[in-house]
Amino acid sequence: MAEFDVDLFVIGGGSGGVRAARIAAGHGARVMIAEEYRMGGTCVIRGCVPKKLFVIGSHVRHEIEDAAGFGWTIPPATFDWPTLIANKDKEIARLEAAYTANVEKSGAQIVKSRAVIEDKHTVRLLENDRTITARYILIATGGAPNHGAMIPGIEHVISSNEAFHLKTQPKRIVIQGGGYIALEFAGIFAGFGSDVTVIYRGDNILRGFDEDVRAHVRSEMERQGITILTGCTVAKVDRHGDEFTTHLSNGSSVASDQVMFAIGRHPAVADLGLEKAGVAINPKNGGIAVDHFSKSSVDNIYAIGDVTHRHNLTPVAIREGHAFADTVFGKREVKVDHATIPTAVFSQPEVGTVGLTETEARAQFSHVDIYKTNFRPIKATMSGRDTRMLIKLVVDGATDRVLGCHIVGDAAAEITQAVAIAVKMKATKADFDATIALHPTAAEELVTMRTLAKRYVRDMTAE
Ligand code: NDP
Repeated sequence: MAEFDVDLFVIGGGSGGVRAARIAAGHGARVMIAEEYRMGGTCVIRGCVPKKLFVIGSHVRHEIEDAAGFGWTIPPATFDWPTLIANKDKEIARLEAAYTANVEKSGAQIVKSRAVIEDKHTVRLLENDRTITARYILIATGGAPNHGAMIPGIEHVISSNEAFHLKTQPKRIVIQGGGYIALEFAGIFAGFGSDVTVIYRGDNILRGFDEDVRAHVRSEMERQGITILTGCTVAKVDRHGDEFTTHLSNGSSVASDQVMFAIGRHPAVADLGLEKAGVAINPKNGGIAVDHFSKSSVDNIYAIGDVTHRHNLTPVAIREGHAFADTVFGKREVKVDHATIPTAVFSQPEVGTVGLTETEARAQFSHVDIYKTNFRPIKATMSGRDTRMLIKLVVDGATDRVLGCHIVGDAAAEITQAVAIAVKMKATKADFDATIALHPTAAEELVTMRTLAKRYVRDMTAE
């Protein structure tokens, strides 16, 4: 009889957990994976995928507006929110079924239950109070939205989880936050015709992104009619029937039909029984502390994805899950390289970025060259839309290596995925310059920028 019921028990059926389960099963492991909600996790069920569908749908407004300049007469368009939600739900159900089928095809067994740790080799399924013993346990429970301080009226505030299921489209919405989710939903609601007010506590949105990107996105969003109030927070929310008054820390207030917070997410570590097995939390970020192989403080318990609060991005979780399975069950040690991860914010306009910002490069390198261009995309010349695109390269002046690339505008994410290969390969500015432009595109600016916008040189040995 086997020493353990299974070789691997995965807690969490999101992108990372599913990848780990499938690969481990492929290596011959007996795998069980528990999911308390829906297979697919945050990304598939209430994150990246439905968000992107909403972004695509809301962007249609821009297409319709732009059409007149190209000769189209389009009768006044109408938009039906329930149709959007129903079709999105259908697609998400299809994907959930595909996730389930793929896991089952791999030989791993799915259990629809919350699972908690009893000891380092035992998991309890709360659905039927059954215990399962496992040689290895992988925690892939992801994260959940932060609610912030317990301000008066916090019970009226929704998160992105609820935004995906609203019965009606809010005519006016207040969104607190200046990061990924806040700006993505600001663009989504504005595109569908809602009046949007973004409340951000700092002096400009997208903290941590390149300064030029931050300024560009803000001005473009404001030009589309989105109100961005900075230097304030939500202090109180009052409800009057179906309406809300959001009181701000600066004494002003905003009326709306919904109030949403997108103020970060926290690792889902609560009530998992971590302390029973001695799994340590990283005091710096509240996630499960892990080493380069995603191993926790307990030698047979691993953790991947958002629950470790390293880089909270789906492809990172997938890579970590795959590396874990190869390392533990595939007899091949694989470390995930967390350097130079491309990322996109699907705001409108969208942002694509990879590598260092100008500020980060200046802190790390003595000689930094900046190339940037800010231009009117070809489509805008005919549509008449008042918009500009930003493309920026951050270069190490000493070695000519491209350290960072930052793009704001149509297809920024698509361009960045491709350019990330070059940046990861440590391509130089000369390599970019040697590449013949593909005309007419916006991305050709990447290989045609010749004029130095800024040069920073400093003697770091003197510091
Ligand atoms: P972000 O960390 O991107 O942004 C959080 C925002 O909320 C920041 O502007 C932050 O301000 C602000 N904030 C934090 N705490 C408070 C507070 N107590 N009161 C007021 N404002 C506050 O988190 P999101 O929730 O937008 O997204 C969570 C994570 O999910 C992202 O970081 C990203 O890793 C991932 N994600 C990725 C997406 C993608 O790849 N396209 C899409 C959506 C999410 P400050 O900057 O001052 O700290």
